[in-house]
Amino acid sequence: MRFRLFGFPVHLHFSFLLILVFLFDSAYSREAALLWAAAILISVILHELGHAATVRRLGGRVEGITIHGLGGATYWREMGNSLDGWKLFAIAASGSGVGLFAGLGLYWYARMGGLGRFGQLAIESPWTINLRAADFYDQYLVFFVGAFIWVSVVWGLVNWLPIGGLDGSKMLRAVMIRFLGPSGDLHSRIIGMLFGIAVAYWAWQRGFRIAAVLALVFSGADLVSYRRPILPPPVPPSGAPPRPMNPEDRAEE
Ligand SMILES: [Zn+2]
Repeated sequence: MRFRLFGFPVHLHFSFLLILVFLFDSAYSREAALLWAAAILISVILHELGHAATVRRLGGRVEGITIHGLGGATYWREMGNSLDGWKLFAIAASGSGVGLFAGLGLYWYARMGGLGRFGQLAIESPWTINLRAADFYDQYLVFFVGAFIWVSVVWGLVNWLPIGGLDGSKMLRAVMIRFLGPSGDLHSRIIGMLFGIAVAYWAWQRGFRIAAVLALVFSGADLVSYRRPILPPPVPPSGAPPRPMNPEDRAEE
């Protein structure tokens, strides 16, 4: 399904429906499972809109936003100006930034009693939300808002971890390239892979097998997709014969 949001082309891939399979398989009621899926969908769209709006604000061009079964992605490119350094950091950080802003804002609203006494009690903290109680008592607005807060805050913070493939590793990459130069790219991907292995081990030990496999796949794919930067050939000092080029020094592609 394709549509436009704030001028950005959005492609909702059918694999997003896989999330429903997991939710219908859970102990929640049908209504609650659908609300869970809606909360995830809105949270993911908001996250990608955060990236897209930042790209546009900094003068880049957003090619499109894709929402799929494992989350989403915003495709963009530079338009004449270079989007690196703190700009790249801001683009990577703004997805979860928008989600955390919305999630924590709604959390504050619920705690102030905006969703009534039930919402105040059910939404204890951004990560302890009594969704089963809300489902049991048919408090669907509280359920939906609670699920949105949980997804936006918990997944938002996880996304900032420097695990290869997640926004956190792109933020780390922007910082490391800033301080180490081009080699910061590869170094940040290696750190992202190590973090991915550590998280996979942690998740596997606790029975989160799918999360463990995803952490390995994401961080591995991020390391494998590394391309050596194309550096200008060194200028030989005048008079010195040009050295034969080591084939290892040539950038691929
Ligand atoms: Zn993101």
